[in-house]
Amino acid sequence: MRVFFSNLGCKLNQAELEHLARRFRAAGYSIASELSEAELHVVNTCTVTHVAARDSRKTARRGHRLNPELRTVLTGCYVAADPQEAASLAGVDLGVGRLVKEAILERIHAAFPDLVPPPPKTDPLPVPFEPIEFGNSRTLVKIEDGCDMHCAFCIIPKTRGKQRSRPFETILQEVTDLTCGGFKEVVITGVQISSYRWEAMGLFDLVEHLLLFLDHSRLRLTSIAPWQFDRRLLDLFEDSRLCRHFHFSLQSGCTGILKRMRRPYSAREFEALVREVKSAIPGVAITTDVIVGFPGETDEEAEESLRFVEELELARVHAFPFSPRPGTEAALLPDPIPHAIQRQRMHRMLEVAKQSARRFESLHLGSEAEVLWESSRHGMWQGMTDNYIRVLKKSAEPLGNQIRREQLLEASDRGVVCQAASRAHPVPGGQPPTQPTQQRATLSP
Ligand code: SF4
Repeated sequence: MRVFFSNLGCKLNQAELEHLARRFRAAGYSIASELSEAELHVVNTCTVTHVAARDSRKTARRGHRLNPELRTVLTGCYVAADPQEAASLAGVDLGVGRLVKEAILERIHAAFPDLVPPPPKTDPLPVPFEPIEFGNSRTLVKIEDGCDMHCAFCIIPKTRGKQRSRPFETILQEVTDLTCGGFKEVVITGVQISSYRWEAMGLFDLVEHLLLFLDHSRLRLTSIAPWQFDRRLLDLFEDSRLCRHFHFSLQSGCTGILKRMRRPYSAREFEALVREVKSAIPGVAITTDVIVGFPGETDEEAEESLRFVEELELARVHAFPFSPRPGTEAALLPDPIPHAIQRQRMHRMLEVAKQSARRFESLHLGSEAEVLWESSRHGMWQGMTDNYIRVLKKSAEPLGNQIRREQLLEASDRGVVCQAASRAHPVPGGQPPTQPTQQRATLSP
């Protein structure tokens, strides 16, 4: 029995999909690389904007058009936000909402007994797991889900429910399994990983323990709420296996808009955090999300937000036009921004985002960084530095899934061209090639 997975939305959705794929494999399914080869299509949907919801519907219909015999199952945030509409879409055979997502296999088998595969011949655990998104090198692990905040624009508390964390030991075991299985980078993900709590432990304790359990693989953190930053994390970056990268969601660079969004910080507080992290970790990449055209946003406020983002000199800025999500406070706010104005503001914010990314890359030209090589096309390898710079190198030598020290040479549209670093020339701005400071530990049964 072959299943094809489609994924929309954020890194958290990707992490869930990878987890789901492992469960399907353990149950005896094989993962199809083309939709046309599959008997079952599982779509992990998103509804963070109206475009994401529309794309989720389009993806769901695609399989049915290709093959009317194909069974299509929808899960994820779009289903959670509007289960009736999701289940009634043409070509959709089953919708699996948030509360029963963990039982998705059981739901599918109850609905379609002919899709139950024979049990796998060999025990598929402990590894290898097949990575889905990043070739053969990076994988995502979800540590927490849901949110107890109520930012005016956000649908997540409705689609993902209250904040809750996965058990500490389960995460340690999963990360250990994945790195033993060959993944060279584990990306820790969640709605906001800074909300992680398990008994007396928080994100700092988790990362500290993960570094004890990791071999030479590296660890990357994702979304951290700016108001929840645990400064003790900064000390852990002496360990070069921890990628120099933070994602702090800004949402607006104008304090008045932040207040109306119900975000609990000011633009100046955000700036102070960015400056502190930059001065503590040389070369760190700080990335963010910004919403453009929140209801009532004046020209002055839009300009303030734009200038603020520009001055922060971030490594990457993801800009989104405001999209009213039914059931959120912001969907009912007066003074929506006309489309033409929103488009203009988006255009300018995207330009600032592009310039910021270029500036960040250019600051690192000539320096050295640890690169995880991921995939190649026609002899051109693609990889990622620990500080989130996409890099390229022509090489006949197979580099896939290797971490190597490289020198960054020249920016191009597709990434920064690099070459093997000469260890004889340490270069300013780059992180020294430290060895892991911790010994790898073993898990007790
Ligand atoms: S924007 Fe983030 S903090 Fe605010 S409600 Fe959504 S998930 Fe929670």
